[in-house]
Amino acid sequence: MTTSAETLEFQSEARQLLQLMIHSIYSNKDTFLRELVSNASDALDKLRLEAFRDKDLQADTDDLHIEIDTDPENRTLTVRDNGIGMSRDDVVALIGTIAKSGTAEFLKKLKETKDSAASQDLIGQFGIGFYASFMVADKVTLLTRRAGSDEGVRWESEGEGTYTIETVPDLPQGTSVILHLKPEDTEDQLFDYTSATKIKQIVKKYSDFITWPIRMTEGDSADNVVTVNSMKALWARPSSDVSEDEYNEFYKHVAHDWNDPLETIRLQAEGTFEYQALLFLPGHAPLDLFMRERKRGVQLYVKRVFIMDDCEALMPEYLRFVKGVVDAQDLSLNVSREILQQDRQIQLIRRRLVKKVLSTVKGLMTGENTDKYETFWKEFGRAVKEGLLDDFENRTAILDICSFASTNDPEKLTTLREYVERMKDGQEHIYYLTGESRQSIENSPHLEAFKAKGYEVLVLTDPIDEMWVDAVPGFEEKQFQSVAKGEVELDSDTTDEQKEEFSGLLTWLTTALAEQVKEVRLSSRLTTSPACIVGDTNDVTPTLEKMYRAMGQEMPQIKRILELNPGHPLVSGLRDAFAKQGENEGLAETAELLYGMALLAEGGELADPSRFTKLLATHLQKTL
Ligand code: ADP
Repeated sequence: MTTSAETLEFQSEARQLLQLMIHSIYSNKDTFLRELVSNASDALDKLRLEAFRDKDLQADTDDLHIEIDTDPENRTLTVRDNGIGMSRDDVVALIGTIAKSGTAEFLKKLKETKDSAASQDLIGQFGIGFYASFMVADKVTLLTRRAGSDEGVRWESEGEGTYTIETVPDLPQGTSVILHLKPEDTEDQLFDYTSATKIKQIVKKYSDFITWPIRMTEGDSADNVVTVNSMKALWARPSSDVSEDEYNEFYKHVAHDWNDPLETIRLQAEGTFEYQALLFLPGHAPLDLFMRERKRGVQLYVKRVFIMDDCEALMPEYLRFVKGVVDAQDLSLNVSREILQQDRQIQLIRRRLVKKVLSTVKGLMTGENTDKYETFWKEFGRAVKEGLLDDFENRTAILDICSFASTNDPEKLTTLREYVERMKDGQEHIYYLTGESRQSIENSPHLEAFKAKGYEVLVLTDPIDEMWVDAVPGFEEKQFQSVAKGEVELDSDTTDEQKEEFSGLLTWLTTALAEQVKEVRLSSRLTTSPACIVGDTNDVTPTLEKMYRAMGQEMPQIKRILELNPGHPLVSGLRDAFAKQGENEGLAETAELLYGMALLAEGGELADPSRFTKLLATHLQKTL
């Protein structure tokens, strides 16, 4: 039975994306076909798997294939599959909306981007899927019937805000996408998508590796059907046989990315547990890399049969951006995610994949590929560093591929190995300082004595840095040491004499500032500033404290230690005044100002800024 057609609105994000496609700012229009074929291939994979798992499914799995027809007279192009199909609800949910996380941010960025090359690049990173049809069509009709259901669905849209949807009888199983092509653009000869020859070329170029037959009719006779693609699983072919272009197109298919990958990784294992892996490092981070619902990117196949997307058992969380395929020979087609998590062989594969990914990245760090490494680190470094907390076994290998900003050269990141090579005679530790921004760290008084001694300090500004530095003891027998924590042993250490001279002042200040700090002591890290605030070795840093609070965690207020520079005239003046006058209100205020200044110098926030400015104004007045 046919129901009357309903007109529905696209979700607003979907509408905006469609507008982009209609006014097509993306120059390589051929890609629409890759997207449709890729969807058709996924639909066939899903059907095969579902029919295998559900023996009662009333589905026809005899001759699974994709078919492409061109009709120059009516200017239509049809891509058909007899795969899983979609129900009415599926169509509304999947075609009427964009469920991709990060869409809103993506659209915002796109709006802000005025330059057309940059917006193309963004679209490429996002990938538009089915909507790419509207680059070449001014109307799209979709006919689909979900396998096992009697009810067919007809969907149609011109991409302008609304679509119509109705149920229709007697549709074949699977999905047909009919593109009503835009009028031919005479200036743009590339545009003729009614030409079967042109379509064949595009399929060959972008979709050759699809493991289902892609059929087209040749010449005028309907009987003359040819399979256009070679159908060979890329990962099963000898690597010497596969061109870089083929790998790149395959990557775009599995990763739903429109750009080339940064690096391709192949792995084969023969013997008792045979498998092949074809993995990719993408050239850019996905929008959802740090979102809660992020997925992992490796697909599992068993003997060429697609089993699942996002197979988390194959890749640890911190390498979630790695895309690709693992094809295992000896698993049951029935495996579930739960079983995989327990499976010893899968664990072995995963160990090997992880090591291979890490060593591949390491390989990019030298020779002619350093640009690739830099891109990799810029895009994925923050995620990789999570591995320092999660993957004990590979900690050294991860540290080996990390790079960090440092005081050595503001323009360049440094590896730990390079840092260690530059360490000064007598320098025992790898020094670092964590904070919210490079600028606040570089201006921090904590660095003064280190700078004066020529000791390099790593500048760590990623939130994850706050965590791993506490968990990882060191690198190549050198310990990590925060310049803002604990007592530092630089040989500019304060003398016993100084300790004696200042002891009265320090004892008094410790009580006078008891609300703010747990101790006041002399510092050996300062050369020019009068004071700084440091944490105890095991204290949570202020940035971390703030992060926990932002996550809604209750945190006791953590008192730190105020360190004074005995060589600074303000500090020695305070000592002398205290010796003469004993404690009084004026000195107490000076002490409070000193503490406030130290807090500001490290980029911290005053608890009561108005009180601070008032005190400061009063004290300045006295100097006039
Ligand atoms: P993507 O393929 O990146 O998920 P698309 O916009 O291309 O995004 O497609 C959205 C969804 O619509 C797909 O994930 C799939 O569930 C469904 N879909 C698209 N084409 C087909 C098809 N030919 N057969 C069955 N489902 C399809």
